[in-house]
Amino acid sequence: MWSSRLFWKLFLVYAGLNIASAIVFVLIVSGRQQSQVVEEVQQRLHDSAVIMRSSLDGVFQQGFSERLQEKVRKLGEETGMRLTLIGMDGVVIADSDQETLEMVRLMENHKNRVEVIQAMSTGAGESKRLSPTVSEPMLYYAVLFKEAGEPEGIVRMAMTMAKIQTEISSIQKLIWSIALLVSFTVMLLTYWVVARMIRPLTILTNAAESIAGGDYDQKLYFPQHDELGILAQSFNHMSKEMAERVRQLQASGDRLSTVLEGMVEGVIAINERQHVLFANESAGRLLFFAPDQAQGKALFESVRNHQLQKAVTEVLKTLEPQRMEVELESTSDRILGVTTTPLPGTPCPGLVIVLFDMTELRRLESLRQEFVANVSHELKTPLSSIKAYTETLIRGAMNDPEISQTFLLRIEEQADRLHQLILDLISLASIESGNQIFDIISIELRPFVESCLIDHQKVAEAKNIELQIEEKEPGIKVKADDEGLHQILGNLVNNAIKYTPDQGRITIRWERESAKMVLLQVQDTGIGIEEKYQARLFERFFRVDKARSRELGGTGLGLSIVKHLVQSFNGTIAVTSKMGEGSTFSVRLPKG
Ligand code: ADP
Repeated sequence: MWSSRLFWKLFLVYAGLNIASAIVFVLIVSGRQQSQVVEEVQQRLHDSAVIMRSSLDGVFQQGFSERLQEKVRKLGEETGMRLTLIGMDGVVIADSDQETLEMVRLMENHKNRVEVIQAMSTGAGESKRLSPTVSEPMLYYAVLFKEAGEPEGIVRMAMTMAKIQTEISSIQKLIWSIALLVSFTVMLLTYWVVARMIRPLTILTNAAESIAGGDYDQKLYFPQHDELGILAQSFNHMSKEMAERVRQLQASGDRLSTVLEGMVEGVIAINERQHVLFANESAGRLLFFAPDQAQGKALFESVRNHQLQKAVTEVLKTLEPQRMEVELESTSDRILGVTTTPLPGTPCPGLVIVLFDMTELRRLESLRQEFVANVSHELKTPLSSIKAYTETLIRGAMNDPEISQTFLLRIEEQADRLHQLILDLISLASIESGNQIFDIISIELRPFVESCLIDHQKVAEAKNIELQIEEKEPGIKVKADDEGLHQILGNLVNNAIKYTPDQGRITIRWERESAKMVLLQVQDTGIGIEEKYQARLFERFFRVDKARSRELGGTGLGLSIVKHLVQSFNGTIAVTSKMGEGSTFSVRLPKG
């Protein structure tokens, strides 16, 4: 209450008005009172002069006398007024304020006194002035005394102003006291009324401030049924509505930010000055900046990309949405798809930038193109050979049984290559597409590896390569598809034999690596693989030495098929190799 400015404004205005009206009232009343007192005194002087005049027969003919002076003095004492008898020549015959007749004789001539002059000419005169005889301000009233129609002298009554003033001031004191009391009472009433008026407003203000501060549980209870009661009801309704709206807004804001944060695409909202209003985690990840720290700062302070900056500036200027691709060369080889859309509103309040990583898409596209080119090339080579042999045969070589035999064998060889290539492609496509149905079972490695090696025994023996098995502990099983595992091991052993010179050794070992995984290794003492090629070994059509591989009947798809098969069985494959010493392919498969 004491801190309410409105309270003090209203109270001071009312108090000021109250004091002002009290002062005006007192001034008017006391002014009126003062003139009324003066009028009353004048009336009394007049009445006394007239009464005195009737008891003064023969006094003026007698002139000075002790008796007269004594009588006049007594009359003065009794009436409380000054009585002066003045002859027509202005000589004072008696005066109630003089003690002795001698003193009366010494008084100066009064014929020039204002009231005396007036009385002589008109019969009555009055004045208010300083008395030269008694030296104090006095109110005079003089009447002409006539006997048998002839003017005999002047009877003058006077009263000192001090007496009148005392009377006036005592009345004024009373008026001031009443006014003060009334003012004080009115002030108290004003205080009470204003405080009563302000109290609901203070409560309302506090409640409104709390709402503005986010506390929406504010309820007002005004028992009155007037405008304040209605206001309280409306306020409660409004705060309830607001709480509901804010809750809805918060919920939709939370939903929106969860959606935005969960998006793979990067989203950045900036204002017209290119300052970041919002940026999600993905945007930070794609453009290599910290979204929290970039908030409120210029976007291109955190993201240095000329292409993007140019696009943003252009969209802000033209207000036309734009799609583009941005390459992040400095930090990575990333390709980003960027759409910039202006935010609705005039003038344009900013724009939204949506970023999506297109690196993988572009990589897959180029892989596809590369694959098509590779397949075409791989198909073309044997087909060209077949075509050349057939043409030669048709042109006459078929008449030579020896040549035609050789050519036909070559044609068969190339057809086998084509056949193998197509089989590999079909196999790879069906594994990659995930359509191939595997029958995952528990396979004990020892018998499985042994039976698999029988297929390669002959080829190995031809090259004098020793095939050996190392089993760390018996009975180890893996979870895989029988045919698939056969393909994996077959490919790895086949490669090992192909890329190991004569007299070499191939070791197939397995062990339990962890509680869940089994490690199966195919190690050779072959030519080895340069480190720079090791990572690319599992790519389709990748061959370290194309000519050599082709010569050995390879398609370049073997390890790619192996990798996909291993992955289909929830396993992994890795290679370690040293040039000239040999290679080790490590396959990790789930324990059976
Ligand atoms: P390919 O049909 O040519 O053998 P792969 O996919 O099986 O195709 O192998 C890809 C390439 O990896 C081969 O061309 C060869 O250069 C290299 N490679 C595979 N296995 C070995 C190995 N044991 N020793 C040396 N190089 C190998």
